[in-house]
Amino acid sequence: MAKKMLAAIKKEATAGAELVETDIPTPNSDEVLIKVKACSICGTDKHIYTWDAWAASRIKPPMIFGHECCGEVIEVGASVKNIAVGDYISAETHIPCRHCYQCKTGNMHLCNNLVILGVDRDGIFAEYATIPEICCWKNDKSMPIEIASIQEPFGNAVYTVMESNVSAKRIAIVGDGPIAAFACGIAKAMGAAYIYNLGMMPFNLDICKKMGAQVSINVFKEKDYRQRIIDETNGGVDVVLDMAGNKPAVDDGFAILRSTGTYTSFGLAPAPFEFDMANNIVFKGANIIGINGRKMFETWYQLKNILDYKLVDPNPVISHVMPFKDFIKAMEMAVSNDVPTSKIILTMPQ
Ligand SMILES: [Zn+2]
Ligand SMILES: [Zn+2]
Repeated sequence: MAKKMLAAIKKEATAGAELVETDIPTPNSDEVLIKVKACSICGTDKHIYTWDAWAASRIKPPMIFGHECCGEVIEVGASVKNIAVGDYISAETHIPCRHCYQCKTGNMHLCNNLVILGVDRDGIFAEYATIPEICCWKNDKSMPIEIASIQEPFGNAVYTVMESNVSAKRIAIVGDGPIAAFACGIAKAMGAAYIYNLGMMPFNLDICKKMGAQVSINVFKEKDYRQRIIDETNGGVDVVLDMAGNKPAVDDGFAILRSTGTYTSFGLAPAPFEFDMANNIVFKGANIIGINGRKMFETWYQLKNILDYKLVDPNPVISHVMPFKDFIKAMEMAVSNDVPTSKIILTMPQ
């Protein structure tokens, strides 16, 4: 086997990244080595690439970043029991310690000692990567590599929707990125009665509509959309899925949420902001749910059923499939608005 591999490395604490030749990693005893088949670009990777305040506070260069992937297992560590050479896996990206309170009470995804692949340790934007056995999810060999790679963010949307009890409800999905688009499809499949989608980019709003939103609202273009939703729903939607997280989005979300409604928060704000707790939560009697990661592994079993039985087709969300050698070009596309993008997949020569 070749000893070197191509990998996208964040070399220094500054914007950008480099595609370089580096050593193929050796798996620890509880890890497997995969030959990456496909990987995809996530919002987190954009933060790391552009080197914003969050990245500067969390990432320790030099490191290989990226976390969404699928690949074939080509080597297993000495204590690996249930994954074998030849298995086709995707990675759960939250690496739990398995010993803390959260791990022992069914919340491994919120482990007190959580390590995130491609954030706190080397990731998968490379030809080969090591993955802990606990994080390996075995795929059926027939699953296309593009779909196998996006199961992790698809799982964020599954977890968000499943916690929010959307069946027969009028809901709003705030945000128009890939996970918001997945959520539109999953909420529809889970029986949401009516879906408003609030976003900013016509290209992405169209994808959300294709996935299942009945109404697209471009918050830059439409006036009085809050009042329109409140009027049409007689007081506000039953459930808001916040896939954006910034202040204007959160203010929108609570403004259109009816009293005693459910607000599910997944999106992340770039920085803390002022928030009207009294009016938004207390006087509304609002139910608040926070979502981080995916339930390990309940969410994965749910997303497998959703995909296997074709309840949702995630393909409209995949806007670009490019070869991994064009990684820098793909990253530049993802962080600029010159070319509209949704989910970008990078594939290795098969
Ligand atoms: Zn991600
Ligand atoms: Zn733990």
